[in-house]
Amino acid sequence: MTISPLMPVYGRCEVAPVRGDGCYLYDAQGREWLDMASGIAVNCLGHGHPHLVQAIQKQAATLMHTSNLYKAPAQEHLAQRLVDLTFADTVFFTNSGAEAIECSVKTVFAYHYATGNPHKHRIITFSNAFHGRTLATISATDQEKLRKGFEPLPDWFKVVPFDDLAAAEAAIDDTVGAFMVEPIQGEGGIRPASPEFLQGLRALADKHGLLLILDEVQCGVARTGHLFAHEMYGVTPDIMAIAKGIGGGFPVGACLATEKAAAGMVVGTHGSTYGGNPLAMAACEAVLDIVTEPDFLLQVREMGARLTQALEQMIPNHDTLFESVRGHGLMLGLKLKSDSRAFVGHARSHGILAVAAGDNVMRLLPPLTIGEKQIRECVERLSEAARSYQPAVAA
Ligand SMILES: *Cc1c(COP(=O)(O)O)cnc(C)c1O
Repeated sequence: MTISPLMPVYGRCEVAPVRGDGCYLYDAQGREWLDMASGIAVNCLGHGHPHLVQAIQKQAATLMHTSNLYKAPAQEHLAQRLVDLTFADTVFFTNSGAEAIECSVKTVFAYHYATGNPHKHRIITFSNAFHGRTLATISATDQEKLRKGFEPLPDWFKVVPFDDLAAAEAAIDDTVGAFMVEPIQGEGGIRPASPEFLQGLRALADKHGLLLILDEVQCGVARTGHLFAHEMYGVTPDIMAIAKGIGGGFPVGACLATEKAAAGMVVGTHGSTYGGNPLAMAACEAVLDIVTEPDFLLQVREMGARLTQALEQMIPNHDTLFESVRGHGLMLGLKLKSDSRAFVGHARSHGILAVAAGDNVMRLLPPLTIGEKQIRECVERLSEAARSYQPAVAA
């Protein structure tokens, strides 16, 4: 037998964290890394945040799981809180981002079915998007590395160029029922949509009777210094998928929708065994307690501005390696002039964890609780890594 007991679908790096504290991770030998990845925008409160830890401990001892067969006071409470904080009127809780997208897609199909347009069974999505790794969510992207080996996939999605409003408009026909877009592409390389594009999609959706799904799985929950990224665009979706940050490390997601968009989501149309279990709800409540504290968002914007400025000051010292910084709040991308994956690996050996993304971007997604000391440390370690780095020369 040569296959590993753990299905070998990840090319894992050598870092093996066993403990975390705030913005730092430690392995069994006590080696330390500054965590500028946060488990890919998940650990928004850092590692071991006392409020989150206590909430989970207390809930685990009280009630961990019941069933969606029973009334769910914890879900009702959190749903009300999310409704009060957002455009949404109703919420379905999931266990992951991909499931939140699946629920969003089903909500669109169910809406057009319920309103007498069952043929509106396709959704316009955008090139280099990432919506997850389930069959429906890989169907929604044109990224070859996600689709390869699984085609033919359902043709529920029409992929057009990102940030190209004319292309989106041209793709509308009688089979189209919605747009689905990340306000800021994460895996695609921290590419913020232009305001004209997002606002234009909203206007097109209104004009043609389409729904607008925003995928805020990565950019939502205070990551950009706004509770949700669309707030900064002045665009309101009909449906929004969230996950990652909302659990602070606990696996949970949600599909939020307006009453109108959820018209088809009636009894029997959707479900989940674990979705919304009391332990997950306790984690989300604790995260929301912190991110809705007065000044929390301001602090994220402030730290984001400082990190951006520090990175911008560093770039000219290593201008054969680094090109520019982009993003919002603490969802930042450092664009490289060579393969970002290789440099992310090199940076790891200098005690800093980041995530590679498309377009040769190194993603910096630190805990939202990061302070000035860690920002200085981040830039020092990155500069150190840059000084000793020899990009592989293309053959
Ligand atoms: C991570 C991510 C997903 C998928 O979330 P999972 O929890 O991995 O299923 C979907 N959309 C975006 C934008 C993401 O970043």
